[in-house]
Amino acid sequence: MTFHMTRSLAVLAFTLVRAIPALAQQPAGRPEDTEIWTPVPPVVTAGPTNAAPPSDAIVLFGGRHLNEWVTAADTTKPAMWTVRNGVATVTKAGGDIQTRRRFTNYQIHLEWRVPVDVSGSGQRRGNSGLYLGATPDGGYELQVLDSYRNTTYVNGQAASVYKQHIPLANAMRKPGEWQVYDVVWTAPAFNADGTLRSPAYITAFHNGVLVQHHVQLAGDTKYIGAPSYRAHGALPIRLQSHGDPGPQVSYRNIWLRPL
Ligand code: MG
Repeated sequence: MTFHMTRSLAVLAFTLVRAIPALAQQPAGRPEDTEIWTPVPPVVTAGPTNAAPPSDAIVLFGGRHLNEWVTAADTTKPAMWTVRNGVATVTKAGGDIQTRRRFTNYQIHLEWRVPVDVSGSGQRRGNSGLYLGATPDGGYELQVLDSYRNTTYVNGQAASVYKQHIPLANAMRKPGEWQVYDVVWTAPAFNADGTLRSPAYITAFHNGVLVQHHVQLAGDTKYIGAPSYRAHGALPIRLQSHGDPGPQVSYRNIWLRPL
């Protein structure tokens, strides 16, 4: 084969791939490829929940309204989750919600509750999520899920850094009881040319139990495929509406302290 023929074939192949963007962008592999099921973290019993925010906190949800939040899919719209009796509850129609403000490094406190009459199983049981930094196509998710006697891949159970870090323990209370996350988020930093200067880190407590101990993230948390970094600045925080069947996850007492 002549040089010109080889080159023509290469150009043809390149053009074909470019012409089929759906095919080119399809992530390789299956969701199961990145699921880990054993060993299962031990179950431990947690102490009681705690109370009022510290005096220097930014209150993101104090029980009365979601004015600090917007609809993630259209940030010109207010958050469309229900607020009743001091509690905000996910709505499927409302989709994900995210903060109006953007943050870099911070400590966050958040309380969440799986409904007592939760339905579904595995990943479709009380699934929501705390995106510590939300990018247009995803972000960095600390999983919210009913992991009380609910088997799933352990790097996707409650308090996992989704598909990256298995929690050190399962501190899950029963559905209907309030769960508490206290998280320290160190955002990734990027150089001017977009390359990674320092990765993201998470330390997290679930109901007062250390579940993530300064773990380093390999990039964003992906459903399919390997994590990767893409340069960004300060980001909003997002709460996930996963679209599970039946009653939805609720939140209360969300506050943050920038670091
Ligand atoms: Mg989730």
